[in-house]
Amino acid sequence: MRNRALFLDRDGIINHDYGYIATRERFHFIDGIFEVCRQALAKNYLIIVITNQSGIARGLFSLDDFHKLTAWMHDQFKEHSIAITQVYFCPHHPDGKLPEFSIICSCRKPKPGLFLKAAQEHQIDLNQSIMVGDKARDLIAAQAAGVGARVLMADHPCEAATHVISSHLHLIKLL
Ligand SMILES: [Mg+2]
Ligand SMILES: [Zn+2]
Repeated sequence: MRNRALFLDRDGIINHDYGYIATRERFHFIDGIFEVCRQALAKNYLIIVITNQSGIARGLFSLDDFHKLTAWMHDQFKEHSIAITQVYFCPHHPDGKLPEFSIICSCRKPKPGLFLKAAQEHQIDLNQSIMVGDKARDLIAAQAAGVGARVLMADHPCEAATHVISSHLHLIKLL
């Protein structure tokens, strides 16, 4: 049987988005995220993070900075007894500063590349899975990949979203 996943955008869903978060000092978990993840695990969802990190292409922080912050984030979840299956990220931006990352890629949301890669690597049934994001491009990417439930956490609708919610507590009901 294939797995189902709870896909989470990072900035704006796991942590508050102050723009280009690269240090733990600026990484503040949003209330309710641990409870959402606990409930998702109890219902046998894999938890997978799908995040654009153009700060890497823009030279604002390094790949190494990103990996260190990600390792710390995994540890914080573990302290809450939550195992994140994997973090998929796009380091690119077409107008970046670092040539190796300044490309038009197929992984930066709204492109579906990261979802497709995750689905292949973890045998995920995308149609039975959920994506939660705070920007239209999160849900456009999920729709292009075939993710069945697409949840926008925002105070405005978007065409690619199947649900619009205003807090993590509402998310628990959708699992
Ligand atoms: Mg976001
Ligand atoms: Zn990319």
